[in-house]
Amino acid sequence: MASTNVAPLFIRMHDADNVAIVANDGGLAAGAVFAGGLTLVERVPQGHKVALVDLPKGAAVLRYNVPIGYALKDIAAGSWVHERLLEMPDARTLDALPIATVRPPPQPALEGYTFEGYRNPDGSVGSRNILAITTTVQCVAGVVEFAVKRIKAELLPRFPNVDDVVGLEHTYGCGVAIDAPDAIIPIRTLRNISLNPNFGGEVMVVSLGCEKLQPERLLPPGTIQIVDERNVADVGTSAEAALDVVCLQSENHIGFMSMIDSVMDMALQHLERLNARRRETVPASELVVGVQCGGSDAFSGVTANPAVGFATDLLVRAGATVMFSETTEVRDGIDQLTSRASSPEVAAAMIREMAWYDAYLQKGRVDRSANTTPGNKKGGLSNIVEKAMGSIVKSGSSPISGVLSPGEKVKQKGLIYAATPASDFICGTLQLAAGINIHVFTTGRGTPYGLAEVPVIKVATRTDLARRWHDLMDINAGRIADGDATIEDVGWELFQFMLDVASGRKKTWAEHWKLHNALVLFNPAPIT
Ligand code: CA
Repeated sequence: MASTNVAPLFIRMHDADNVAIVANDGGLAAGAVFAGGLTLVERVPQGHKVALVDLPKGAAVLRYNVPIGYALKDIAAGSWVHERLLEMPDARTLDALPIATVRPPPQPALEGYTFEGYRNPDGSVGSRNILAITTTVQCVAGVVEFAVKRIKAELLPRFPNVDDVVGLEHTYGCGVAIDAPDAIIPIRTLRNISLNPNFGGEVMVVSLGCEKLQPERLLPPGTIQIVDERNVADVGTSAEAALDVVCLQSENHIGFMSMIDSVMDMALQHLERLNARRRETVPASELVVGVQCGGSDAFSGVTANPAVGFATDLLVRAGATVMFSETTEVRDGIDQLTSRASSPEVAAAMIREMAWYDAYLQKGRVDRSANTTPGNKKGGLSNIVEKAMGSIVKSGSSPISGVLSPGEKVKQKGLIYAATPASDFICGTLQLAAGINIHVFTTGRGTPYGLAEVPVIKVATRTDLARRWHDLMDINAGRIADGDATIEDVGWELFQFMLDVASGRKKTWAEHWKLHNALVLFNPAPIT
């Protein structure tokens, strides 16, 4: 729906930029005249770039004060600057990067903000109270799905304090080179997901029996803090017995219903303990927030991501943990990130993750430019450099105080770089393993993404999307482009909404509709 009575408007991100993006819904036709006198020489779609000055062939095209490309031919002021007119810059090498050179002035602590959460024996805090059933292998998925349906129908109604029952289904566990060095990534991802704060430490496992990923390998002794002595009462020190495992190939099972009964019996015990949990008031510092973007457009880096970046700074000031990810979308801004590292060790860890990912992509004979999608380009993002500059702003301006390898669990507060692919479902799965209790997702093209395991708050980059997807988008950052709100306004709104959602006072739209995407493990190791 094009606005007809709104003056032509462009948004420029930095004074040095020689391109800006058209803000108007529906784009602008040739002849449109901006306030400063610039006239469009051709139609430019919404979110796409217009040349603010004449750009001679070879000139650096600047957005965010960063060269996002070089003009392949002369481009006149007022022209549409699209990806076919730009040569993409090479990725910066990982040598001689600025290390911990930027010391952002310390922001005042943000005190007095709280939410109602579920405190766990290991000290973490959940935003939901969910029974998760861990699986060691895909073979058991159908059985677990069958059991979960019956648990929901027959048991869950008796336990009003439990929000949901979720089978942690995945495609890993067998037919894989489990001793390959990189197999540690999918294995620790599964392990750490089962320890997510929203599951209350109530780990139960369904295993097949003959699979490579045996329960003791998935959850070695000591990974779970045993709070119920019943688990270890009459079985001595056997690691397997200390875990609550239903093994389908056990000789005790005669027929399918025997397996289902075993899963339900075990679920019943866990539900009883989960049902006794109560929310309590905890400081906002117990939030563990993962931010990512998906279905990005040129507004992502103008509205939603800067608002998320502002909220990220608020979270850090409140003492919370917030992680940003998506390696291919930060690779082009690596110098910005290493300079913001809180120490040389943090910068070195970031470079290590980038180098690992460069090699991973190289093995597949691609580079970070394989990231962009047709929708990104339709939305005005010419290439990965432009996309990356808009993506990084989600990290705000705080020092980066830690780095996680894929699948690792976070153990510290502050702003963390959790290295993950940018793939929405894999990034979400890895952030879940890292221990998030809130997931924030920005989108410009629109995605209905949601997870059963953790609330996903979706932030729209454009009012047009927020209007069309009014019952899927939780926050409309498009108001920033419309001039109806500032980045700070939307950042505070998001911060407050996170506290409400974490407390269970409000639900996200994805929760309301029960939109649950699959867990997708990152497995860079060989399949056999
Ligand atoms: Ca993503």
